[in-house]
This record gives sequence, C-alpha cells and structure tokens, in this order.
Amino acid sequence: MEERKIVTSLFVYAYDELPADYKRLVDEAKRVTKDAYAPYSKFHVGAALLLANGEIVSATNQENAAYPSGMCAERVTMFYANSRYPNQSPKALAIASFAEGDFLDEPITPCGACRQVLLEAEMRYGADINVLLYGKRGVYVVSSVKALLPLSFDSSLLK
Ligand SMILES: [Zn+2]
Repeated sequence: MEERKIVTSLFVYAYDELPADYKRLVDEAKRVTKDAYAPYSKFHVGAALLLANGEIVSATNQENAAYPSGMCAERVTMFYANSRYPNQSPKALAIASFAEGDFLDEPITPCGACRQVLLEAEMRYGADINVLLYGKRGVYVVSSVKALLPLSFDSSLLK
C-alpha cells in the first residue's frame, strides 16, 4: 500500500492587493449578483470571466421551480462566453455571492459540476484559468481549475 497526497495551494489576497484587472473582474462578479434569479434559495451568485481579448462576460445563477432545471452562475457564464466568443481563451473567473442582505464573509467555491465544465474550457483552450473567489475577509486566488478538481475526468481518458 502506498499513500499519495494531493496538494492544492491558493493565495489569499486582501481586495486592495489584487491587480487592477482582477479588481475589475471581482467588482463585476459582485455587481451582477443583483441580477440573479434566485427566488427559491435567495442565494445570489455572480460570475465574471475575463477573456484573452480583454472582454469581460458575466452572468448569474438562474433558478427554476423544477429545481434541477436551474443553472449555476459559473456555468451560465462559461457557456455564454464559449458561445459568444468561441475563439477567445478564458483567462480568469471571479465568483461572488450575496445572501441575506450582504456579500458573504468567506468565499464560496464552484460546485463539482461547474468545476467539470470550467475544466473542459481550460483543456479546450490549453491555458490555465485563474479562479478568484470573493469573500469580504479575503479573495482566494487559485491558479487553475485543475487545482480545484484533483483526479479529474477529462477527454484524455476517452482515448
Ligand atoms: Zn455550480
């Protein structure tokens, strides 16, 4: 028997320490939380994606009375970006959430299904996507989606 360890590191920034383009991305993720359609959970999530051409695409979670038919902000954003700008590699994704009248103190992280979709984009464009997770007490910066999804399944396993 052999033990193998998987190590993921992340950086915790104060908002003011972020580079200007990442501040803009976080600001946009926060700004759009007000547009979430979340009448059931009241948990508003905003995501903002920076593309290689400098464009920022943002979107929110979209709930449905038939709960599984809804979609997380991360996937709405990535699918829209991939549809609208199929030739632009995603560079960084910021995520923010707002509930009970305020932004959350601690960052939220993408669900497993969203991590899988974000990983597909990372593999498709062959470039790491920095993931910025906003919380009032700090912004987690993870260097890639792969780091958020160890032992992941991807297209290389289909060959
Ligand atoms: Zn999700």
